[in-house]
Amino acid sequence: MDTLLTSALLIVAVLLALYLCLILLPQVYRLYQVWCWRKHSDKIAITYDDGPDNVTSVDLMNLLDELDVKATFYLVGFRAERAPDVVKQLAERGHELGTHSFSHWHAWKILPWRDYADAERAYGVLAPHVSPTAPYRPPFGKISLFTLIGMLLKKRRVDWWTSPTNDTDDDFPDVQKTAAEIIDKRQPVILMHSHHDELHRREFMLDMTRAIVNQARAKGLKIVTMQNLTNKPVGA
Ligand SMILES: [Zn+2]
Repeated sequence: MDTLLTSALLIVAVLLALYLCLILLPQVYRLYQVWCWRKHSDKIAITYDDGPDNVTSVDLMNLLDELDVKATFYLVGFRAERAPDVVKQLAERGHELGTHSFSHWHAWKILPWRDYADAERAYGVLAPHVSPTAPYRPPFGKISLFTLIGMLLKKRRVDWWTSPTNDTDDDFPDVQKTAAEIIDKRQPVILMHSHHDELHRREFMLDMTRAIVNQARAKGLKIVTMQNLTNKPVGA
């Protein structure tokens, strides 16, 4: 009986260790990536997840043109199917495009190979405007070790962020104050979203974009796409 109990505990311990490896090692990689970004404190990258759509993404593209800024967009496959012309326009206007999965599932709540297959599906849907070696940003910042290794083997960067702007919350912070905090702390990678259905969220995100760009430039920072944030892209 003792032997049986020991064996069972051993199996549980091994499975637990395996599970922790699968979800924790990618987060160690994330810390390394942020450390690499912070070595270039004269640059910031503005990034947008969860698009495209036919309203917010279009307003945002027009604002970025007005500000003469190139940003990085991580696009969701199922939304790209509904707004193919917007994907084309984003590419034509010189923004960096990456993928953000097809279905926007939380990787820790599904099997690792399902997460990977869903990420691959997005690359299929987004071609030809998104390169097969374009970067991947995991939904909710969660990725399995399985998917992380799969992406790196295909020479794709896996990009996280350092500073969200709370544009998906219900209570918005003060725009100018939040932008000032981000710039003063030299946050290298800003996260916003380009799919808002609600007018108040859309307006907040657009106002935040303008505030960050203006305050970054006032402090002499260069606004770059993710591929230009470091001299050697992480994962390349
Ligand atoms: Zn997302």
